Amino acid sequence: MDQAAASKGAPLAQLSHISQIYTNGRKRFVAIQDVNLTVSEGEFVALVGPSGCGKSTLLRILTGLQPPTEGQVLYRGDLLNDVNPHAAIVFQTFALFPWLTVQENVEVALKAREVPAKMRTSRALDLLDRVGLDGFETAYPRELSGGMRQKVGFARAMAIEPELLCLDEPFSALDVLSAESLRGELLELWQSGNIPTRTILMVSHNIEEVVLMADRAVIMDKEPGRVIANLNIGLAHPRQRKDQAFLEVVDRVYGLLAGQTQPEHIELGAMPGELGRLRGLPDVPINDLAGLLEHLAEEPNNRGDLYRIAEHLGLDSDHLLTLVEAAELLGFATVAQGDITLTPLGETFAEASILARKEIFASRLKRFPFYKWLLSMLREADQHRLRRGVIQTALEREFPPDEVDQQLNTAIDWGRYTELVSYDDDDDVFYLEPAGG
Ligand code: ADP
Repeated sequence: MDQAAASKGAPLAQLSHISQIYTNGRKRFVAIQDVNLTVSEGEFVALVGPSGCGKSTLLRILTGLQPPTEGQVLYRGDLLNDVNPHAAIVFQTFALFPWLTVQENVEVALKAREVPAKMRTSRALDLLDRVGLDGFETAYPRELSGGMRQKVGFARAMAIEPELLCLDEPFSALDVLSAESLRGELLELWQSGNIPTRTILMVSHNIEEVVLMADRAVIMDKEPGRVIANLNIGLAHPRQRKDQAFLEVVDRVYGLLAGQTQPEHIELGAMPGELGRLRGLPDVPINDLAGLLEHLAEEPNNRGDLYRIAEHLGLDSDHLLTLVEAAELLGFATVAQGDITLTPLGETFAEASILARKEIFASRLKRFPFYKWLLSMLREADQHRLRRGVIQTALEREFPPDEVDQQLNTAIDWGRYTELVSYDDDDDVFYLEPAGG
């Protein structure tokens, strides 16, 4: 299936049957599985999905920074075999040269593009003016706020006059106000047609940001990273976050991302070393999970719209969706069509005493294959103790490298909370308390 839903103009960049597989010893991680995606001239496309679903990898593949394991990248119909000279990427935190002024930081990009020296100054000044940095030309990066530094990043990306501007979480490192004003400025610049950029592709895990800015949301899921939906946003600009139509689209994106709760054996997945998909522990503090369940317990019918909950609890969508995943895994809630509903067990948990909560949580955690595996390893170990390194090595065969530490840390937090597994920080050892001790 080609995921070019609403092409505005001619196809600019096309991904055809792209897969990215990383190998670690004998283990293969499918970071991206068979993605087809076309971005066309005139489109503002957003890639949205949970952390680790392969958004940044797709961006690197699309711009030629990384060759895919399988599949083809086409740019204006031609096979892309190298870094795409017509594309630029703005990263989450833009690395500026601290010893150069704002203006010089932009001129560097022009120099790299072999713009003649005498034209560089006027071009740099013009670009800085367009991103609203007029008056800051001679400042050094350290004198600027995060938002302003990111604007220099935009100016520098724009200096190479990219046809395809790729933005990798460009606003996520900024404070709320700077992010919102920079979003507005970028949209204005894009809509004014005042820049040579034909197409914008933005990676984001912020649902509201996507609905505010993009024409189309390409929705991804992880394990393996893949495209699960294409949604034409279809709202006229300027968009208002409080409008009913806006909220309906946000609700749909939440619905697509949160999916639908599966039968328990599918939700729980397989054990390390077994065939089948291993589910890791979602990276959530138990207090936050309890907060979500308590909130739902106060809602009519113990049910809520995810987007309203995000707003009410002041949670970003990524964090909320991870909490929801944890609630589903533990059997505390079910999800369908963007709504979350407490199960009777979830309701019991929300209303239970501290001690009873621990017991409920422990009984659920014991059913979770990954935790069952950890407990059985510890039961079989000498003195029921295992060094962190041993578990780490075992997990390195199961999880991508950057996830192993998170899995270990969550296993420790949840183990301590439920008193199922203890951890000695001084010796970095997992152990089981003696029975009755
Ligand atoms: P996202 O941008 O959606 O957070 P990424 O594209 O950064 O996702 O990563 C997708 C998956 O690929 C993750 O599981 C990550 O751990 C894995 N990954 C990324 N780069 C490498 C690499 N060089 N080696 C091994 N795994 C990698």
